[in-house]
Amino acid sequence: MLESELVPIFRGNGVLEYVERQKPQLMADDDVIVRIEACGICGTDLNILATPPAHKATPGIVIGHEGVGIVEAMGPAVQGLQPGDRVVIANRLTCGQCAYCRRGLDNQCTNYQTIGTTIDGAFAPTLRATARALWKIDPSVPRDDAALFEPLACAVGSIKRAPFQPGDNVAIIGAGPMGLLFALLYRSMGAGKVIVLDMAPYRLDFAHEMGIDAALNVTQVDAPAEVKRLTGLGADIVVDAVGNQINQAIQLARRGGQVILFGIRPHDNPPVNQYTITRYDLTVHGTFVGLYPFAQTIQLLESRRVQPSVLITHRLPLMELERGVELMRTQRAMKVLVEM
Ligand SMILES: [Zn+2]
Ligand SMILES: [Zn+2]
Repeated sequence: MLESELVPIFRGNGVLEYVERQKPQLMADDDVIVRIEACGICGTDLNILATPPAHKATPGIVIGHEGVGIVEAMGPAVQGLQPGDRVVIANRLTCGQCAYCRRGLDNQCTNYQTIGTTIDGAFAPTLRATARALWKIDPSVPRDDAALFEPLACAVGSIKRAPFQPGDNVAIIGAGPMGLLFALLYRSMGAGKVIVLDMAPYRLDFAHEMGIDAALNVTQVDAPAEVKRLTGLGADIVVDAVGNQINQAIQLARRGGQVILFGIRPHDNPPVNQYTITRYDLTVHGTFVGLYPFAQTIQLLESRRVQPSVLITHRLPLMELERGVELMRTQRAMKVLVEM
């Protein structure tokens, strides 16, 4: 008799249905069975579960990609992992064969699968994943810090694109979990001032509590003027963690500064003030999930120099996944962790 477990299945149109399924078994030689300890709710999950959906996912799968767990079993071809190891998930499975993979641009693979979007993910007690999607992490890293590996890796990969010098002043638009991960990273890297901007008082208060140098409410202050006042010239680096803030971003940057466009809003299409970019010598980086950020992200978590679990405000059981989604959607939570 095979064991079964109760999991939420994504049915499309924002619907999750709890279904008793057979516990995943090893299938391929390079498969690993992971007992999931916890999985973070991501903005992507909110988009998948929105109606109409703002991010594609395949109906019939288990979603969730910010998982941390313990290796339970593995196929004969798996190397470098043992039962009992703690692992985190690098959820994009690139094909290794398309024109972009061959150029080393794995984040632009045109033929990828994603754990938790196109194939079964980690909002479940058990995950079957191919070994190359799993990264071993030292057990000394607390579970809740390890659970933020994937979003942290996206920020690590993105930061790499804009040459940074210790002392640089950084302005981050959007004080949600991603914006605050950027803030934590830049602070740990030795930024001068780190300034976050948002409209939501909950998020601004949270940033303030975290000790971010300044948390500006863009509905209450003239943000470019205030950033200039705080920095002298404007920010050396500006991050748009929202996805439609390019015009605000280029106004916050000093002359010769850099802008990182990280957030994703596929349906927004703001007109761009090209003159400002040219006249003031700005460098604008579009960055998508990051090129190979995983090894550094593991090392960073193991160093304990960044502890992203400070962003976790709620821990809920799997049966309350939808409540967690609602808490994040209504901005009454910063980061919600689902515990198995
Ligand atoms: Zn995520
Ligand atoms: Zn590819």
